[in-house]
Amino acid sequence: MLGRMMHQPLSVGSLIDHAARYHADTEIVSALTEGGFERTTWGEVGANARRIGSALRARGLEPGDRVGTLAWNNRRHLELYFGVPGAGMVCHTLNPRLSPEQLAYIINHASDRMLFVERTFVPLIAPLRDQLSSLRGIVVLGPRDEALAAELPGLLFHDELLAEGDPSAPWPAVEETSPSSLCYTSGTTGNPKGVLYSHRSTLLHAMSVNNRDGLGIGAADSVMPVVPMFHVNAWGIPYAAAAVGARLVMPGPRLDGQSLARLIIDERVTMAAGVPTIWLGLLDALEASGERPESFKRSIVGGSALPPSMRAVFRDRYGVELIHAWGMTETSPLGTLNAPKARHLALPFEQQDEIGTGQGRPPYGVELRIVDAEGHVLPTDGETEGELQIRGHWVLDSYFGQEKPATTWDGWFDTGDIATLDPDGYMVIRDRSKDIIKSGGEWISTVDLENIAISHPKVANAAAIAARHPRWDERPVICAQKRPQSDLTEDELLEWYEGKVPRWQRPDRVIFVETLPLGPTGKVVKARLREVHGNVLWDDAMAEMQAARDPQED
Ligand code: ADP
Repeated sequence: MLGRMMHQPLSVGSLIDHAARYHADTEIVSALTEGGFERTTWGEVGANARRIGSALRARGLEPGDRVGTLAWNNRRHLELYFGVPGAGMVCHTLNPRLSPEQLAYIINHASDRMLFVERTFVPLIAPLRDQLSSLRGIVVLGPRDEALAAELPGLLFHDELLAEGDPSAPWPAVEETSPSSLCYTSGTTGNPKGVLYSHRSTLLHAMSVNNRDGLGIGAADSVMPVVPMFHVNAWGIPYAAAAVGARLVMPGPRLDGQSLARLIIDERVTMAAGVPTIWLGLLDALEASGERPESFKRSIVGGSALPPSMRAVFRDRYGVELIHAWGMTETSPLGTLNAPKARHLALPFEQQDEIGTGQGRPPYGVELRIVDAEGHVLPTDGETEGELQIRGHWVLDSYFGQEKPATTWDGWFDTGDIATLDPDGYMVIRDRSKDIIKSGGEWISTVDLENIAISHPKVANAAAIAARHPRWDERPVICAQKRPQSDLTEDELLEWYEGKVPRWQRPDRVIFVETLPLGPTGKVVKARLREVHGNVLWDDAMAEMQAARDPQED
């Protein structure tokens, strides 16, 4: 025997124990859905996580059982983030912005046993209750409410479960490779697919991406994750924050610029994370009020491309550094973060900005490569574009419920993004090969929009494309071919979407075309349509801005 080091499984339970033990009185501030704020601590969240976990076990939930959550960023959701996996179950976050049909599909596909919901989402879930056969109970995230309990028989309440649970219940032993959380992505074609994270992948992601060149969160930070906890575990921030004992400021449901500006200033937030659309809203609010968020130093921006001008405005006007990051549900999510190397600091500002608006380079633990259509690895010269592939400790191997690997024959995951890589690993997304639209950080299925258009009696064929948009990054536009002699109007087709998809997924414009460009296999060539019509919304918005600036002519 040559000697050995201790072996302890990497576990979510051990993470909350660390935060609760060494950062017991560090505050967790939550904006409540019903208005107002709540202040708790890592110590209380730790005790409540054990209460919830033990109450669920006492109610018959088994290791590996899925527990759904339909909730905003707040203290109770955080308790589930730690209590559910701590007690051996799987925390399955659900996106409330999906349609009721998609939610039902996902809950059934995951066979969720319990579902924790914000009280405002009870009307969304109640009509689906009969279709959700795997569910043993629905728990409202709040204290007992008799009126609500009368509406939906059998309803449970989070605070009642807390009272049933034991704050010192030991965590069961878990294998580090066992599952801890589950998140479905609709950023693929076909039905949403589940990505099942393990304790090990979650811990390695939290520890690896939180270095000085990454999230850079420390115990003295006040961190505001604006990215919802139903988007890939809020980019892992709750776990990274627990590992270092940072103070958390949870924004709840109000993510408009004004509400966020108030929170940042009043709660002295030092760093945050969210999609570009969120930061555009914050900029507008700050410009309008003239306030300066003195404490605010850094924000992680990802989910869609960071507009170059935004980086400069935040830096020059407010002294806030925007750190561009890229990732996917399939990659836990962080795959790259943008931090400079020593030699970049000597470059002129414009060149530093150019590097800073790229998506950054991989932290230790993941690797990137680009390949051509035949799978040949392409050079990392910063110019050659190829399909971006990734592998590493927190990258998906196979989707939930699927035996078949989701990887290439040699073990890489194909991202569906088109990128360039330079010799240092700096990656720039140039395009996307997956046919889907990303609006304000949320996916919209082109297939669904096309099927709805084609179901209109006056439409012969239709294609949905992602058009550039100054606020939402992308918005759907329909290119439609009318039936011969039809008198279909744009408004008529836009109204056709009423009630068929959630409001925010309805197309912004319809463009009538003589014919749709078809490729050799008969598929519509979307790239061609995007080339011709991809700027319509941008041009409209610019024309509007111009009109607002020019003096009105009588
Ligand atoms: P998330 O919830 O983190 O946005 P998704 O799995 O929903 O993860 O989306 C991942 C996809 O979003 C990527 O494959 C890419 O197309 C796009 N994306 C994410 N981050 C960026 C970024 N920084 N720049 C451009 N596109 C991005």
